[in-house]
Amino acid sequence: MDPDLRRDIVSLGFVKNLVLENGNVSLTIELTTPACPVRDELQSLAKEAIRAMPGVGEINIEMTAQVRKREEPGDLIPGVKHAIAIASGKGGVGKSTVTINLAVALAETGARVGLMDADVYGPSIPMMMGIPDERPLTTSSKILPIERYGLKMMSLGFLLEEGQAVLWRGPMVAGTVKQLLADVDWGELDYLLVDLPPGTGDAPMSLAQLAPLTGVVIVTTPHHVAANIAGKSVHLFRRLNSPIMGVVENMAGFACPNCGEVTRIFAGMTGEELAVKIGVPFLGSVPLDPMVSKASEEGVPSILAYPDRPQAVEFRAMAGRLAAQASIIAMSRATVGV
Ligand code: ADP
Repeated sequence: MDPDLRRDIVSLGFVKNLVLENGNVSLTIELTTPACPVRDELQSLAKEAIRAMPGVGEINIEMTAQVRKREEPGDLIPGVKHAIAIASGKGGVGKSTVTINLAVALAETGARVGLMDADVYGPSIPMMMGIPDERPLTTSSKILPIERYGLKMMSLGFLLEEGQAVLWRGPMVAGTVKQLLADVDWGELDYLLVDLPPGTGDAPMSLAQLAPLTGVVIVTTPHHVAANIAGKSVHLFRRLNSPIMGVVENMAGFACPNCGEVTRIFAGMTGEELAVKIGVPFLGSVPLDPMVSKASEEGVPSILAYPDRPQAVEFRAMAGRLAAQASIIAMSRATVGV
């Protein structure tokens, strides 16, 4: 049984290349994501189940992964298997920080990952990735994404001249989001993470209407206000028919720079309480850590700059949980034919 999908892996179609020879058994288990958090558990469960049968000699199980895609007509990003938006109720909760670190954590597992900065009002990805002056190349028809830290990325920040102000009106935001999707040569990706501007404005609306989103991740901090505003984003996405894949809590406690021990500081509603309240999975909690802020000033994702600190460990675990949610949503859509 797959512990997340709650179905047996044979009927899920995960078992491939089954060979029985003189009692020796070999097979491949093809998972729905290379970031599967239950990969090792599944392998040993399968081994145990085979071992329990009489006459079995050697057992050889190869674990592979193939991310599956939801087909939709008029899809602007046909090569992208899972488009996942990262949203927050208000600014400054660490939405961009969470987005880049989740993207790098997914890429570390071998998945092909893109990062689209749709925070049109304040595109911060170029700075946080240490490439504020980079300008993308174009072919005759497409803009080529910039590659860094194993990710393909695009941001309005790469397209505007420094200091160039944009006075946004609704249709312009929609047009820009459409351009960042359709005019960029994203190619084949397992995950495209989209950093949305805070709040419930034009960008989230446009994105949900233009791209078949697997779902949305809500980032919140443990202040009541932030949690309440996050609730508004949840309401918007539900109305737009985009599933909420989970809640990420950021800046929940302080990670001591000397020993790494985490102390909770704020008294507000926790991310876990918000997740329970709105009935979605809790993906994890990232502590306040001066190294996170330092890394972002230095233009390096904190998971790469300080890979052994609690924030990095948590980001990797969270990426696994997010990938599992993407597979669960894709699988339930395939089952009910949506
Ligand atoms: P948002 O995208 O929600 O506006 P950012 O990701 O830009 O927020 O983060 C705002 C600031 O807070 C940045 O300077 C970032 O480095 C810092 N920050 C985010 N998360 C943490 C954390 N867990 N610990 C310390 N600083 C953080």
